[in-house]
Amino acid sequence: MQTGDVLIVGEDICQQVVGRKDAFDAVEAVFGAMARGDAYNFPVIREAIGYADALYGFKSGFDRAGQVLGLKSGGYWPGNMEKGLTNHQSTVCLFDPDTGRLSALVGGNYLTAVRTAASSSVSIAHLARRDAKVLGMVGAGHQSAFQLRAAVEQRDFDKVVAWNPHPEMLPRLAAVAEELGLAFGAVIPEELGAQADVIITITSAFEPLVMTDWIKPGTHVACMGTDTKGKQEVDPALLAKAAVFTDEVAQSVSIGEAQHAVARGMISQDDITPIGAVINGDHAGRTNPDQITLFDGTGVGLQDLAVASVAARLAQEQGLAGHAAL
Ligand code: NAD
Repeated sequence: MQTGDVLIVGEDICQQVVGRKDAFDAVEAVFGAMARGDAYNFPVIREAIGYADALYGFKSGFDRAGQVLGLKSGGYWPGNMEKGLTNHQSTVCLFDPDTGRLSALVGGNYLTAVRTAASSSVSIAHLARRDAKVLGMVGAGHQSAFQLRAAVEQRDFDKVVAWNPHPEMLPRLAAVAEELGLAFGAVIPEELGAQADVIITITSAFEPLVMTDWIKPGTHVACMGTDTKGKQEVDPALLAKAAVFTDEVAQSVSIGEAQHAVARGMISQDDITPIGAVINGDHAGRTNPDQITLFDGTGVGLQDLAVASVAARLAQEQGLAGHAAL
Protein backbone atom coordinates (compact mmCIF):
# COMPACT_ATOMS: atom_id res chain seq x y z
CA MET A 1 0.00 0.00 0.00
CA GLN A 2 1.28 3.49 -0.88
CA THR A 3 1.35 6.28 1.67
CA GLY A 4 1.10 9.97 0.80
CA ASP A 5 2.30 13.13 2.46
CA VAL A 6 -0.51 15.15 4.04
CA LEU A 7 0.15 18.74 5.11
CA ILE A 8 -1.17 19.70 8.53
CA VAL A 9 -1.86 23.41 8.98
CA GLY A 10 -3.24 24.30 12.40
CA GLU A 11 -5.16 27.38 13.51
CA ASP A 12 -2.04 29.24 14.74
CA ILE A 13 -0.21 28.72 11.45
CA CYS A 14 -3.27 29.86 9.46
CA GLN A 15 -3.32 33.09 11.46
CA GLN A 16 0.39 33.52 10.94
CA VAL A 17 0.44 33.02 7.16
CA VAL A 18 -2.94 34.16 5.76
CA GLY A 19 -3.43 37.92 5.80
CA ARG A 20 -6.43 39.96 4.71
CA LYS A 21 -4.96 40.69 1.28
CA ASP A 22 -4.36 36.96 0.64
CA ALA A 23 -7.96 36.23 1.61
CA PHE A 24 -9.33 39.09 -0.50
CA ASP A 25 -7.44 37.93 -3.60
CA ALA A 26 -8.43 34.28 -3.12
CA VAL A 27 -12.12 35.08 -2.54
CA GLU A 28 -12.31 37.57 -5.41
CA ALA A 29 -10.71 35.04 -7.77
CA VAL A 30 -13.03 32.20 -6.77
CA PHE A 31 -16.16 34.40 -7.09
CA GLY A 32 -14.98 35.23 -10.60
CA ALA A 33 -14.39 31.54 -11.37
CA MET A 34 -17.88 30.65 -10.06
CA ALA A 35 -19.51 33.23 -12.35
CA ARG A 36 -17.56 31.87 -15.36
CA GLY A 37 -18.70 28.33 -14.53
CA ASP A 38 -15.11 27.28 -13.76
CA ALA A 39 -15.87 26.57 -10.11
CA TYR A 40 -18.96 25.20 -8.46
CA ASN A 41 -20.25 24.43 -4.99
CA PHE A 42 -21.87 21.10 -4.17
CA PRO A 43 -25.11 20.96 -2.17
CA VAL A 44 -24.61 21.87 1.48
CA ILE A 45 -25.34 19.32 4.20
CA ARG A 46 -26.28 20.73 7.62
CA GLU A 47 -27.94 18.56 10.26
CA ALA A 48 -28.89 18.77 13.92
CA ILE A 49 -27.15 15.63 15.18
CA GLY A 50 -29.33 15.22 18.26
CA TYR A 51 -26.29 15.34 20.56
CA ALA A 52 -24.70 18.27 22.45
CA ASP A 53 -27.26 20.52 20.71
CA ALA A 54 -24.83 20.54 17.80
CA LEU A 55 -25.36 21.47 14.17
CA TYR A 56 -22.93 19.62 11.93
CA GLY A 57 -22.37 19.69 8.20
CA PHE A 58 -20.23 19.90 5.07
CA LYS A 59 -19.62 22.55 2.47
CA SER A 60 -17.68 21.38 -0.54
CA GLY A 61 -16.86 22.22 -4.13
CA PHE A 62 -14.37 22.16 -6.96
CA ASP A 63 -12.52 25.07 -8.49
CA ARG A 64 -11.23 23.79 -11.83
CA ALA A 65 -9.51 27.09 -12.58
CA GLY A 66 -7.62 27.17 -9.27
CA GLN A 67 -7.30 23.32 -9.06
CA VAL A 68 -8.81 23.23 -5.58
CA LEU A 69 -11.01 20.34 -4.46
CA GLY A 70 -12.19 19.70 -0.94
CA LEU A 71 -14.64 20.27 1.85
CA LYS A 72 -15.09 22.19 5.05
CA SER A 73 -16.67 20.16 7.79
CA GLY A 74 -17.83 21.33 11.17
CA GLY A 75 -20.63 23.31 12.66
CA TYR A 76 -21.94 24.87 15.81
CA TRP A 77 -21.55 23.49 19.35
CA PRO A 78 -23.37 25.90 21.70
CA GLY A 79 -21.80 24.43 24.86
CA ASN A 80 -18.21 25.01 23.75
CA MET A 81 -17.80 28.44 25.32
CA GLU A 82 -17.83 26.97 28.85
CA LYS A 83 -15.12 24.51 27.74
CA GLY A 84 -12.93 27.42 26.61
CA LEU A 85 -13.52 26.69 22.92
CA THR A 86 -15.30 28.73 20.24
CA ASN A 87 -18.81 27.53 19.43
CA HIS A 88 -18.15 27.40 15.68
CA GLN A 89 -15.69 24.63 14.83
CA SER A 90 -14.46 23.65 11.40
CA THR A 91 -11.68 21.89 9.54
CA VAL A 92 -10.90 21.93 5.83
CA CYS A 93 -9.79 18.81 3.92
CA LEU A 94 -8.11 19.44 0.57
CA PHE A 95 -7.73 16.71 -2.03
CA ASP A 96 -5.48 16.43 -5.07
CA PRO A 97 -7.94 16.87 -7.99
CA ASP A 98 -5.82 14.58 -10.19
CA THR A 99 -5.78 11.59 -7.85
CA GLY A 100 -8.35 12.16 -5.09
CA ARG A 101 -5.63 11.82 -2.45
CA LEU A 102 -5.98 13.87 0.75
CA SER A 103 -3.35 16.60 0.42
CA ALA A 104 -3.94 18.87 3.44
CA LEU A 105 -5.85 19.24 6.69
CA VAL A 106 -6.31 22.91 7.53
CA GLY A 107 -7.87 24.52 10.62
CA GLY A 108 -11.04 26.33 9.51
CA ASN A 109 -12.00 28.65 12.39
CA TYR A 110 -9.79 31.67 11.70
CA LEU A 111 -10.13 31.10 7.96
CA THR A 112 -13.94 31.24 8.19
CA ALA A 113 -13.78 34.70 9.76
CA VAL A 114 -11.15 35.99 7.37
CA ARG A 115 -12.90 34.64 4.24
CA THR A 116 -16.27 36.07 5.38
CA ALA A 117 -14.67 39.46 5.92
CA ALA A 118 -13.00 39.16 2.52
CA SER A 119 -16.41 38.53 0.95
CA SER A 120 -18.02 41.77 2.19
CA SER A 121 -14.76 43.54 1.46
CA VAL A 122 -14.82 42.32 -2.18
CA SER A 123 -18.40 43.63 -2.42
CA ILE A 124 -17.32 47.04 -1.07
CA ALA A 125 -14.40 47.17 -3.48
CA HIS A 126 -16.67 46.52 -6.48
CA LEU A 127 -19.97 48.15 -5.48
CA ALA A 128 -19.57 50.93 -2.90
CA ARG A 129 -19.26 54.55 -3.95
CA ARG A 130 -15.65 55.67 -4.25
CA ASP A 131 -16.34 58.63 -1.94
CA ALA A 132 -17.76 56.52 0.94
CA LYS A 133 -16.63 58.00 4.27
CA VAL A 134 -18.85 56.52 7.00
CA LEU A 135 -19.01 52.79 7.72
CA GLY A 136 -22.08 51.49 9.58
CA MET A 137 -21.74 48.25 11.54
CA VAL A 138 -24.82 46.30 12.65
CA GLY A 139 -23.51 43.52 14.88
CA ALA A 140 -20.71 43.28 17.40
CA GLY A 141 -19.98 39.56 17.78
CA HIS A 142 -16.96 37.46 16.83
CA GLN A 143 -17.14 38.20 13.09
CA SER A 144 -17.67 41.94 13.40
CA ALA A 145 -14.07 42.89 14.19
CA PHE A 146 -12.82 40.91 11.17
CA GLN A 147 -15.47 42.61 9.02
CA LEU A 148 -14.47 46.06 10.24
CA ARG A 149 -10.74 45.53 9.69
CA ALA A 150 -11.26 44.26 6.12
CA ALA A 151 -13.86 46.89 5.14
CA VAL A 152 -11.78 49.90 6.09
CA GLU A 153 -9.06 48.79 3.68
CA GLN A 154 -11.40 49.29 0.70
CA ARG A 155 -12.37 52.97 1.04
CA ASP A 156 -11.04 56.05 2.75
CA PHE A 157 -13.41 55.81 5.74
CA ASP A 158 -13.03 58.36 8.51
CA LYS A 159 -15.78 57.22 10.88
CA VAL A 160 -17.56 54.09 12.10
CA VAL A 161 -21.12 54.20 13.42
CA ALA A 162 -22.42 51.05 15.07
CA TRP A 163 -25.52 49.51 16.55
CA ASN A 164 -26.01 46.10 18.12
CA PRO A 165 -29.09 44.45 19.63
CA HIS A 166 -26.88 43.74 22.66
CA PRO A 167 -25.23 47.14 23.32
CA GLU A 168 -22.88 45.74 25.95
CA MET A 169 -20.92 44.08 23.09
CA LEU A 170 -20.13 47.39 21.34
CA PRO A 171 -17.05 48.51 23.34
CA ARG A 172 -15.02 45.65 21.82
CA LEU A 173 -15.80 46.95 18.33
CA ALA A 174 -15.11 50.52 19.44
CA ALA A 175 -11.64 49.39 20.58
CA VAL A 176 -10.93 47.96 17.10
CA ALA A 177 -12.04 51.24 15.45
CA GLU A 178 -9.84 53.18 17.85
CA GLU A 179 -6.89 50.91 17.07
CA LEU A 180 -7.50 51.66 13.36
CA GLY A 181 -7.52 55.40 14.05
CA LEU A 182 -11.21 55.85 13.20
CA ALA A 183 -13.80 57.91 15.05
CA PHE A 184 -16.49 55.65 16.54
CA GLY A 185 -20.09 56.40 17.48
CA ALA A 186 -22.66 54.06 19.05
CA VAL A 187 -25.97 55.16 17.50
CA ILE A 188 -29.59 54.09 17.12
CA PRO A 189 -30.26 52.18 13.88
CA GLU A 190 -32.15 55.09 12.21
CA GLU A 191 -29.12 57.31 12.80
CA LEU A 192 -26.82 54.61 11.46
CA GLY A 193 -28.84 54.54 8.21
CA ALA A 194 -28.81 58.34 7.97
CA GLN A 195 -25.02 58.55 8.34
CA ALA A 196 -23.56 55.42 6.75
CA ASP A 197 -22.34 55.20 3.15
CA VAL A 198 -21.57 51.49 3.59
CA ILE A 199 -23.41 49.21 6.04
CA ILE A 200 -22.36 45.72 7.09
CA THR A 201 -24.91 43.56 8.93
CA ILE A 202 -23.35 40.62 10.79
CA THR A 203 -25.79 39.34 13.43
CA SER A 204 -27.67 36.12 14.17
CA ALA A 205 -31.02 37.90 13.83
CA PHE A 206 -34.24 36.17 12.79
CA GLU A 207 -36.13 39.38 12.04
CA PRO A 208 -35.33 42.61 10.21
CA LEU A 209 -33.11 45.02 12.13
CA VAL A 210 -32.61 47.57 9.31
CA MET A 211 -35.58 49.26 7.63
CA THR A 212 -35.65 50.50 4.03
CA ASP A 213 -36.62 54.08 4.84
CA TRP A 214 -33.57 54.51 7.08
CA ILE A 215 -31.12 53.89 4.22
CA LYS A 216 -29.97 56.90 2.23
CA PRO A 217 -29.51 56.86 -1.58
CA GLY A 218 -26.13 55.61 -2.74
CA THR A 219 -25.54 53.31 0.24
CA HIS A 220 -23.92 49.92 -0.18
CA VAL A 221 -25.29 47.29 2.22
CA ALA A 222 -23.43 44.01 2.78
CA CYS A 223 -25.75 41.52 4.50
CA MET A 224 -23.41 38.93 5.99
CA GLY A 225 -25.23 37.36 8.96
CA THR A 226 -27.99 35.43 7.18
CA ASP A 227 -26.61 32.03 6.26
CA THR A 228 -29.48 29.74 7.26
CA LYS A 229 -33.15 29.36 6.48
CA GLY A 230 -35.17 31.64 8.76
CA LYS A 231 -32.42 34.12 9.62
CA GLN A 232 -33.04 37.73 8.52
CA GLU A 233 -31.34 41.08 9.07
CA VAL A 234 -32.98 43.62 6.76
CA ASP A 235 -36.44 44.66 5.60
CA PRO A 236 -37.24 42.57 2.47
CA ALA A 237 -38.47 45.77 0.76
CA LEU A 238 -34.83 46.90 0.73
CA LEU A 239 -34.01 44.08 -1.67
CA ALA A 240 -36.81 45.22 -3.98
CA LYS A 241 -35.42 48.77 -3.92
CA ALA A 242 -31.73 47.89 -4.28
CA ALA A 243 -29.58 46.38 -7.01
CA VAL A 244 -28.95 42.95 -5.46
CA PHE A 245 -25.70 40.97 -5.78
CA THR A 246 -24.60 37.76 -4.13
CA ASP A 247 -21.84 35.17 -3.90
CA GLU A 248 -24.14 32.40 -5.19
CA VAL A 249 -27.71 32.88 -6.38
CA ALA A 250 -28.87 29.37 -5.34
CA GLN A 251 -27.80 30.02 -1.73
CA SER A 252 -29.04 33.62 -1.75
CA VAL A 253 -32.64 32.59 -2.50
CA SER A 254 -32.65 29.59 -0.14
CA ILE A 255 -30.53 30.43 2.93
CA GLY A 256 -29.42 34.01 2.30
CA GLU A 257 -31.00 37.38 2.98
CA ALA A 258 -32.92 37.23 -0.33
CA GLN A 259 -34.93 34.18 0.83
CA HIS A 260 -37.55 36.48 2.40
CA ALA A 261 -38.01 38.90 -0.52
CA VAL A 262 -38.18 35.95 -2.93
CA ALA A 263 -40.71 34.05 -0.77
CA ARG A 264 -42.94 37.15 -0.73
CA GLY A 265 -42.68 37.60 -4.50
CA MET A 266 -40.95 40.99 -4.09
CA ILE A 267 -38.00 39.91 -6.24
CA SER A 268 -37.14 36.80 -8.24
CA GLN A 269 -33.83 35.01 -8.57
CA ASP A 270 -33.38 36.68 -11.97
CA ASP A 271 -33.07 40.02 -10.14
CA ILE A 272 -29.93 38.81 -8.32
CA THR A 273 -26.51 39.11 -9.93
CA PRO A 274 -23.50 36.98 -8.93
CA ILE A 275 -20.78 39.39 -7.84
CA GLY A 276 -18.38 37.33 -9.95
CA ALA A 277 -20.05 38.81 -13.04
CA VAL A 278 -19.03 42.28 -11.82
CA ILE A 279 -15.51 41.04 -10.99
CA ASN A 280 -15.20 39.53 -14.49
CA GLY A 281 -16.41 42.75 -16.16
CA ASP A 282 -19.61 41.11 -17.46
CA HIS A 283 -21.91 43.31 -15.34
CA ALA A 284 -21.52 47.00 -14.64
CA GLY A 285 -22.25 46.68 -10.89
CA ARG A 286 -23.32 50.07 -9.51
CA THR A 287 -24.77 52.14 -12.36
CA ASN A 288 -25.31 55.50 -10.62
CA PRO A 289 -24.21 57.25 -7.43
CA ASP A 290 -27.72 57.28 -5.95
CA GLN A 291 -28.35 53.59 -6.44
CA ILE A 292 -28.56 51.42 -3.33
CA THR A 293 -26.49 48.27 -3.84
CA LEU A 294 -26.94 45.22 -1.62
CA PHE A 295 -24.63 42.22 -1.36
CA ASP A 296 -26.11 39.02 0.06
CA GLY A 297 -23.02 37.21 1.38
CA THR A 298 -24.25 33.72 2.17
CA GLY A 299 -20.86 32.02 2.56
CA VAL A 300 -19.92 29.29 0.08
CA GLY A 301 -17.65 26.30 0.52
CA LEU A 302 -15.37 27.43 -2.30
CA GLN A 303 -14.41 30.50 -0.24
CA ASP A 304 -13.19 28.17 2.51
CA LEU A 305 -11.31 25.99 0.08
CA ALA A 306 -9.74 29.01 -1.61
CA VAL A 307 -8.28 30.43 1.61
CA ALA A 308 -7.36 26.97 2.94
CA SER A 309 -5.40 26.28 -0.21
CA VAL A 310 -3.54 29.58 0.25
CA ALA A 311 -2.83 28.61 3.88
CA ALA A 312 -1.47 25.20 2.83
CA ARG A 313 0.72 26.71 0.09
CA LEU A 314 2.16 29.49 2.27
CA ALA A 315 2.69 27.19 5.27
CA GLN A 316 4.57 24.75 3.07
CA GLU A 317 6.65 27.48 1.42
CA GLN A 318 7.58 28.91 4.81
CA GLY A 319 8.39 25.49 6.31
CA LEU A 320 5.60 25.85 8.87
CA ALA A 321 3.33 22.96 7.85
CA GLY A 322 3.28 19.69 9.75
CA HIS A 323 3.43 16.44 7.79
CA ALA A 324 1.69 13.14 8.20
CA ALA A 325 1.89 9.98 6.14
CA LEU A 326 -1.50 8.62 5.21
P1 NAD B 1 -21.62 35.87 17.60
O1 NAD B 1 -22.42 34.86 18.34
O2 NAD B 1 -20.22 36.13 18.00
O3 NAD B 1 -22.40 37.27 17.59
C1 NAD B 1 -23.78 37.29 17.32
C2 NAD B 1 -24.22 38.67 16.90
O4 NAD B 1 -25.63 38.63 16.62
C3 NAD B 1 -24.07 39.73 17.97
O5 NAD B 1 -23.96 40.99 17.35
C4 NAD B 1 -25.38 39.61 18.76
O6 NAD B 1 -25.69 40.81 19.46
C5 NAD B 1 -26.35 39.37 17.63
N1 NAD B 1 -27.52 38.56 18.01
C6 NAD B 1 -27.52 37.41 18.72
N2 NAD B 1 -28.78 36.93 18.81
C7 NAD B 1 -29.58 37.81 18.16
C8 NAD B 1 -30.97 37.89 17.90
N3 NAD B 1 -31.80 36.94 18.33
N4 NAD B 1 -31.42 38.93 17.19
C9 NAD B 1 -30.59 39.88 16.72
N5 NAD B 1 -29.25 39.86 16.91
C10 NAD B 1 -28.76 38.84 17.63
O7 NAD B 1 -21.70 35.41 16.06
P2 NAD B 1 -20.69 35.73 14.88
O8 NAD B 1 -19.68 34.64 14.81
O9 NAD B 1 -20.24 37.14 14.96
O10 NAD B 1 -21.66 35.52 13.62
C11 NAD B 1 -22.67 36.46 13.33
C12 NAD B 1 -23.55 35.89 12.23
O11 NAD B 1 -22.79 35.71 11.04
C13 NAD B 1 -24.15 34.52 12.55
O12 NAD B 1 -25.50 34.51 12.10
C14 NAD B 1 -23.31 33.57 11.72
O13 NAD B 1 -24.00 32.38 11.40
C15 NAD B 1 -23.07 34.43 10.50
N6 NAD B 1 -21.93 34.03 9.66
C16 NAD B 1 -22.07 34.17 8.32
C17 NAD B 1 -21.04 33.83 7.48
C18 NAD B 1 -21.18 34.03 6.00
O14 NAD B 1 -20.33 33.56 5.24
N7 NAD B 1 -22.19 34.71 5.54
C19 NAD B 1 -19.85 33.31 8.02
C20 NAD B 1 -19.70 33.22 9.40
C21 NAD B 1 -20.76 33.59 10.22
